[in-house]
Amino acid sequence: MKERVVVKIGSQVLTRKDGTLDVTQMSALVDQIAELNKSGVEIILVSSGAVASGKSEVKAKAKLDTVSARQLYSSVGQVKLINRYSDLFRQHGIVCGQILATKEDFSTRRHYLNQRNCMSVMLDNKVMPIVNENDAISVNGLMFTDNDELSGLVATMMGCNKLIILSNINGIYTGNPSDPASELIREIDTKNGKNNIEDCIQTSKSSTGRGGMTTKYNIARKVAEEGIEVIIANGRTSHILVDLIGKKDVPSTRFVASPKAANSLKKWIAHSEGFAKGEIHVNQGASEALLGEKAVSLLPIGITKIIGNFEADDIVRIIDHLGKQIGIGRTAYNSEKANEIIGKSNKKAVIHYDYLYIEK
Ligand code: GLU
Repeated sequence: MKERVVVKIGSQVLTRKDGTLDVTQMSALVDQIAELNKSGVEIILVSSGAVASGKSEVKAKAKLDTVSARQLYSSVGQVKLINRYSDLFRQHGIVCGQILATKEDFSTRRHYLNQRNCMSVMLDNKVMPIVNENDAISVNGLMFTDNDELSGLVATMMGCNKLIILSNINGIYTGNPSDPASELIREIDTKNGKNNIEDCIQTSKSSTGRGGMTTKYNIARKVAEEGIEVIIANGRTSHILVDLIGKKDVPSTRFVASPKAANSLKKWIAHSEGFAKGEIHVNQGASEALLGEKAVSLLPIGITKIIGNFEADDIVRIIDHLGKQIGIGRTAYNSEKANEIIGKSNKKAVIHYDYLYIEK
């Protein structure tokens, strides 16, 4: 089977301390991507660096608020970034195309399929997609947490085998990475539970990008559970991409892919939490059944309460008897109808198994 990989490159990897684009570094990564591409690996690039590189280009007239600063810098920086990529890939005979996405572009199944179609048609025609969040028009509060989240969504949407997140650190450490006593965690298997790994992660964020190791870890777990191998590695290590794909033993943190791959609809639902329109509360029996090994749908008989106004086909959260969210799903009924059938038997499922994502 053909390998299809999402490579996410963080701002810290692409920019120098003064914020200007580190062209030597970009060029080294493009060389590797081109080499892999020529050997038959399909690559989708998710690249940050717009805001960081725009900052070094324009001097704002007055002090800007966060939103205006992001809008101004990304609008300028994205042009620099994509032009540079385009020139570098052209030297290898590779055509690249730009996709600027907002979170809303994934908000309904129709939007999601449209995004998927766009990337598929590019790949089919040997055009390398270079994706970034459209920071200039993204609305505060409705944005992706960072490009790590966006890259996870793209990897699952495009049925990739791997997601490689390149940062300025080798991976997740057992403590503060600058402390010599801390060790790099080489492998994380999500089926072994969380193993206190979250406690090991340093919460400090990078100075240029929005993400931190905590979001990387959470995204990586979720994507690995959906059947995709995720690797966090240092983008500044030479030959890192070629070595990782060639399965060489290089310092990195690898998340083992779960053997049970979710279907594409479930994948969309798994990443749709931000669009939830309401809550469906369930009793203990229903919660146990949903969390169990067997594939079950959510029936009206297990429902105790409906909160919020939603339409049929909207995304809703599923809350257990203790008030804890256990999953999300696409409801078959609107909130009014769902309210009418609470506790009833012999009714069609409120959320069919195919439209259900349970967080285990
Ligand atoms: N989209 C932002 C940029 O290009 C980066 C977001 C992030 O840090 O993940 O600058």
